[in-house]
Amino acid sequence: MEQEFHEQTKRVNYPFTAIVKQDKMKMALLLNVINQQIGGVLIRGERGSAKTVAVRALSDILPEIDVVKDCRFSCDPINISKMCTPCREQYDQGKKLPVVKRKMRLVELPIGTTEDRVVGTLNIELAIKEGIKALEIGLLAEANRGILYVDNINLLDDHIMDVLLDSAAMGVNTVEREGVSVSHPASFILIGSMNPEEGELRPQLHDRLAFHVEVKGSGNIRSRLQIMKQTMEFERDPIYFKKLYEESDNEIARSIISAQKILPKATIKEEFLRIIARMCIELDVDGHRPDIIITRAAMTKAASDGRKTVTEEDMVFAAELALGFRMRRTPFEDAALGTSKFQQVLDHAKKLEAESKKKKRAKKQSSPPASLKAQSTQRKAGGKTKK
Ligand SMILES: [Zn+2]
Repeated sequence: MEQEFHEQTKRVNYPFTAIVKQDKMKMALLLNVINQQIGGVLIRGERGSAKTVAVRALSDILPEIDVVKDCRFSCDPINISKMCTPCREQYDQGKKLPVVKRKMRLVELPIGTTEDRVVGTLNIELAIKEGIKALEIGLLAEANRGILYVDNINLLDDHIMDVLLDSAAMGVNTVEREGVSVSHPASFILIGSMNPEEGELRPQLHDRLAFHVEVKGSGNIRSRLQIMKQTMEFERDPIYFKKLYEESDNEIARSIISAQKILPKATIKEEFLRIIARMCIELDVDGHRPDIIITRAAMTKAASDGRKTVTEEDMVFAAELALGFRMRRTPFEDAALGTSKFQQVLDHAKKLEAESKKKKRAKKQSSPPASLKAQSTQRKAGGKTKK
């Protein structure tokens, strides 16, 4: 298992910044790396549209994280609530946890993999005596605090998919065998890619991945030529080609780290939150998750641009990534050319918000002054106490 993982990391990946166009996909991936709370990406597109290339390219620009040395679950040495049992025990005994730095990991989950390989295997006899130490870890443990990538996610066995989604939602993987159960932290960014021609994803799964991105082959001759030439150059000498993009890839890696520093200080105006809520109502989306995803994504987009305050553009960008597939109603079918549909939805939500403010103001003006109101409520209260 370990060996397989190391072999994966040895492969020379195509440089992230050498990927031609596909800006929305690249940004969807980067925003998820900057802010793990966004909730994953689904990349949909025909075969050969660089979906897997882009995700693998990501692994070389991932930031370093602090992990507890020798912990099989890569525990965060300062996050007590998400520690595995052995780390937590050491922490509780007042022992200092040794810390090492290593790159955030990208773990691939191949189609046709077994449940044991995903969740891990448990030796029952040992587990009774030793608990979690008896677990031979699976992919969920390896992916903790990293990225779990599933190519052809639409072809993944239903049962494995359920295990993945449970773990993604809870941040914990529980292995149960014959009444013995052990758990360990398993928080990861779930990235899936699929070719819709090979079958759709179960509808309930759609909602579990925060962003959906559609990728297409380019219809532009210049881009196609550039892709052809670069692919041939890369195949001829991957290491040399990689060097050519080293500096631009490093720059992206640095920008991820600086965005992560800005993110906790990012703010969004109350008025913008109201506009996001209105957009979601207008588009008749399910539940409240989309509102939260848009808000998080807009704040992360601001941070990725080096800003602490969210702009309207951030909201439109976030809505495009989060709402495209969630809308049950598609307003503005006759969308004006040149303006994005989501810009129009935002403009409409802004208009509604302005009207509602105006109404509130008018209501305030027509109601009695505050002093009179206070007197009347006092009188009422007084009346009650007399009784
Ligand atoms: Zn640990």
